[in-house]
Amino acid sequence: MRSHRTTARGVLFLAATLGLAAGTAAASTDAKPPAHIIFPVVGQVQYIDDFGQPRPGGPHQGNDIMAARKSPAVAAEAGKVKYWTTSASGGCMLYLHGASGTTYYYIHLNNDRTMRNDNRGKCVLGGAYAVKDGARVAAGQQIGYVGDSGDANGVHPHLHFEVHPNGGKATDPYPYLQAAQKLLFAAKPGTPFALMLTGTVVSASANLLTVKVSTSHAFPSDLTLTKLNQTITLGVPETALVQSVDPGGSLQTMTSIALAQKDQKVVVWTQPAPATLKAQRGDSGALTAALIQLSG
Ligand SMILES: [Zn+2]
Repeated sequence: MRSHRTTARGVLFLAATLGLAAGTAAASTDAKPPAHIIFPVVGQVQYIDDFGQPRPGGPHQGNDIMAARKSPAVAAEAGKVKYWTTSASGGCMLYLHGASGTTYYYIHLNNDRTMRNDNRGKCVLGGAYAVKDGARVAAGQQIGYVGDSGDANGVHPHLHFEVHPNGGKATDPYPYLQAAQKLLFAAKPGTPFALMLTGTVVSASANLLTVKVSTSHAFPSDLTLTKLNQTITLGVPETALVQSVDPGGSLQTMTSIALAQKDQKVVVWTQPAPATLKAQRGDSGALTAALIQLSG
């Protein structure tokens, strides 16, 4: 199965890991990560720029992204996943060898079977990892689960995330995380999803609705994001059902979404659709409304 192309990539990758300038080959490999990587964790997170902070093993080589246990860890860019299961300090880890030539480290992935810190899981598919060792993945595809393996045991679950441009020395991930695109949900590309979005109307026309979204709930993953403050423009086909909810709770069907007023409260259920990166990001027009309820 080893094609000429993968061999060439392998050589490029080898040169990159060794920190060698790839010479003429460098023209086809960007030395830097993309300007806007995909934020590597989906869900509520907290992080600071703790790169370089003194730690027992030396200066901190990444940023620690605090998140709920088993939060989806997703690919910062398209690339290839390599498991690393034998580090005492890192615990369950993976390398994402990105198409840009950048290698990303995902460290302290989940090693718990339950939602408690039971340490009964192993560094395996379905526990720490969401894809097979060696898998080629799309940007934003789930590759692992956030946890507290290795020397994060007993500490709040977090993803220790490192960025190694050209496979060389670690650089501060913080600017990349700050510029990163956060996803509304994690799903395998092409698998069905739907969202329930809650917020206020920014603007509405006959076939578009722009909402300042505060809360998103994803199906079937059941992921809820709060305090989003993200402005999302949805397509509104003629088949979409638009309703107004009066203070007594009774519903009236409206003839057009264009009648919606600015700052009205709104709940939107999206049309179930195959997951795409654009939909995961909430790009303009990538989501289609199926049911819209306006109130206030
Ligand atoms: Zn760390």
